[in-house]
Amino acid sequence: MTKFNALIVDKTDSGEISAAVRQIGLDDLPEGDVTVAVEYSTLNYKDGLCLGPGGGLVRRYPHVPGIDFAGTVEASDDPRYRPGDKVVLTGWRVGEAHWGGYAQKARVSADWLVPLPDGLSPRQAMAVGTAGFTAMLALMALEDHGVVPARGPVLVTGAAGGVGSVATALLAARGYEVAAVTGRPRQEAYLRDLGASRIVPRAELAETVKRPLESESWAGCVDAVGGAMLARVLGQMKYGGAVAAVGLAGGAQLPATVIPFLLRGVSLLGIDSVMQPFDNRQRAWQRIARDLPLDKLEAMIHPAALADLPALGADILSGQVKGRVVVDVN
Ligand code: NDP
Repeated sequence: MTKFNALIVDKTDSGEISAAVRQIGLDDLPEGDVTVAVEYSTLNYKDGLCLGPGGGLVRRYPHVPGIDFAGTVEASDDPRYRPGDKVVLTGWRVGEAHWGGYAQKARVSADWLVPLPDGLSPRQAMAVGTAGFTAMLALMALEDHGVVPARGPVLVTGAAGGVGSVATALLAARGYEVAAVTGRPRQEAYLRDLGASRIVPRAELAETVKRPLESESWAGCVDAVGGAMLARVLGQMKYGGAVAAVGLAGGAQLPATVIPFLLRGVSLLGIDSVMQPFDNRQRAWQRIARDLPLDKLEAMIHPAALADLPALGADILSGQVKGRVVVDVN
């Protein structure tokens, strides 16, 4: 039987986690109706958790992480997909509850796949990945709320990270004035190249809320950080503005008051990429193919191989990854 490479994470009886590239066979893959020859995967914050002991996301070991992948259908029992079709997968707890994209082959439910949109290669799709897909969901939510470029600047927190980088490039390409919050001043040139017209040092938003309302600065916000920063941002929103809450890189607590909601009509829009229905997924991927400048996407890419992932997983958890890691699994 043909063997192929997979990054296997295992746990000993004493609870120690190990991660190493091993050879497995098709029979080792979980059940599913579509087998995909994976071309590229990527690294997201959740992958960092699944590569190590943290997060409690993985219930059964041995495990293949990788919450997203793009590749070519190799075999399908579902009429929607045929061998040779290019597909992309994000979410559905793949890479957590189900084996994921850190292998040369993956077997999944057809319901979880999206046909790769015209104009995006599997490598580009994984440069976007779950992080970029979520950034697009956040942009769509702000648009649906009426946050148009004429309403004023949009803030992006955690800007040099994956969600933040794609959000910055997407918003700038759509004509928004983008203010990028970063804790890494050395990434200023990178963020300006992506389209940020203003850099806000992380320290400016790090302190907890002292006054529930500050001066009205932002028409919208894509927030990858949460915690005290999100609470501060809520108090800085313009009247009727909206914050798309995407992440918790800075914490899951929300030490805020309800005053911005009550006195300024501010909205907090929750963004979930995992359980998005198929139609919205397809709409988001088509918007990505249409709206995301591919030269900006290229500038975000940090190439990697399966064997690099354990170290990169630790890096993303400590906020040290810039842009998007693209993993060539072959
Ligand atoms: P990254 O690690 O690539 O980016 C996170 C960024 O946040 C960092 O690069 C850093 O940006 C900033 N940051 C990190 N730690 C802190 C801190 N303590 N305080 C303030 N800022 C901090 O992760 P991703 O972009 O992949 O994901 C971002 C968040 O979004 C994660 O919490 C992730 O779980 C979540 N997420 C949610 C999804 C959903 O469906 N809702 C889908 C995908 C991701 P800088 O250096 O510029 O300050």
